[in-house]
Amino acid sequence: MNMVLGLRCVICEKIYSPEVLYTCPACGAEGILDVLYDYEHVQSIFRPEILAARPYDIRRYEELLPIHGAGQLPPTKIGWTPIIEAKQLAALIGVTRLYLKDEGRNPTASFKDRASAIGVAKAIELGFGDIACASTGNAASSLAGAAAAVGLRSTIFVPENAPEPKVMQLLIFGARVVRVKKPATGITAYEAAYDLCTQACERYGWYNRNCAINAYLVEGKKTAGLEIAEQMRADVPDWVVVSVGDGCTIAGIGKGLAEMQRLGWIGRQPRLLGVQAEGAAPIAKTFFAGGELVPDRGESLAESIAVSKPRNWRKAIKAIRDSQGTMITLSDEEILQAQSSTARLGGVFGEPAGVAGIAGLKKAVATGVIPNSASVLAVVTGSGLKDVQVVRRTIKMPEPIEADMDGLDRYLKV
Ligand SMILES: *Cc1c(COP(=O)(O)O)cnc(C)c1O
Repeated sequence: MNMVLGLRCVICEKIYSPEVLYTCPACGAEGILDVLYDYEHVQSIFRPEILAARPYDIRRYEELLPIHGAGQLPPTKIGWTPIIEAKQLAALIGVTRLYLKDEGRNPTASFKDRASAIGVAKAIELGFGDIACASTGNAASSLAGAAAAVGLRSTIFVPENAPEPKVMQLLIFGARVVRVKKPATGITAYEAAYDLCTQACERYGWYNRNCAINAYLVEGKKTAGLEIAEQMRADVPDWVVVSVGDGCTIAGIGKGLAEMQRLGWIGRQPRLLGVQAEGAAPIAKTFFAGGELVPDRGESLAESIAVSKPRNWRKAIKAIRDSQGTMITLSDEEILQAQSSTARLGGVFGEPAGVAGIAGLKKAVATGVIPNSASVLAVVTGSGLKDVQVVRRTIKMPEPIEADMDGLDRYLKV
């Protein structure tokens, strides 16, 4: 049963009925909507003994999702990713307790599976046979995977220069891939792909999986916040660290944590630390400067967060402020260092955007923003196996040796 009461615009705060498909009719493209629920009703159902009997994935939270029951969600196990205590990494960074939530364990190896799950369920519920998005990264692969799992057609618009391994990942799931050339008008190939996707959804009647306009996707991302609360309960950490690109992820996690506090599952809400790359930090800049967002260069080797013009910045900043959290920015160098330390000391191999949170935490502790006495959970948002090329910048392939013990002795220098 659907417990959605309405959709509230983040700008004018007017409340609409759930029939509104995408953004606020009055505020236009900037007017992203927020889903409101009947929390009293949810609370009457959402009890530990009831949840105990449910599957350990996002389907367990159906009353807090904008769908009519969990039946249309992909059967692939999305969510309920493990929370791992990383003692050696905690010692390096200098915090009392550090936990990693490993989102690389999702079916297509990133956090984005949570959002795409809601996208496809919503598409089926609304009677769409097709779903589309524009992306080269984790949003695209998660959509391709989720659509395949439920039998929807997916069409994915990518810039023509998208790396082959990423395109192959879409094709293997049976997605239709449209490679878009950079137009002469000066906009980037990605922006062109995005615009074309929007027009195609209108013309052909496809459902648009894009967090910039689709209010429901953040509800999927929210499940990570619900899980942190349910998995940790009384031990809920002082801080939760999340890397930020468009801003939808941190907004979702903040919403999930706030809901679990409201429903009485946790006594206090962790503070959010939002982390951006220096070359792509429009949300962090706006967080400190106030006012409207100014687009940034959007350059970082942490591709998944290299966003120049984020659309969910209002929701992100509000979630961080509501939690009494803050933001921090990092160089690519610091992110790469965190990639190897998270692997070597935590046993988790994250992509650069996935471990940016660890780098941000290290800096926040070093500069006194987060005290040494804090307990912290960092969300590792995606697996490093998706892009092993980037690792070549920090490590070298070993030279081959002769197949004898002398050769081995020399190589090991024993
Ligand atoms: C998309 C993504 C993020 C950031 O999420 P936003 O909603 O864009 O802020 C972080 N890490 C990974 C691995 C991602 O794919």
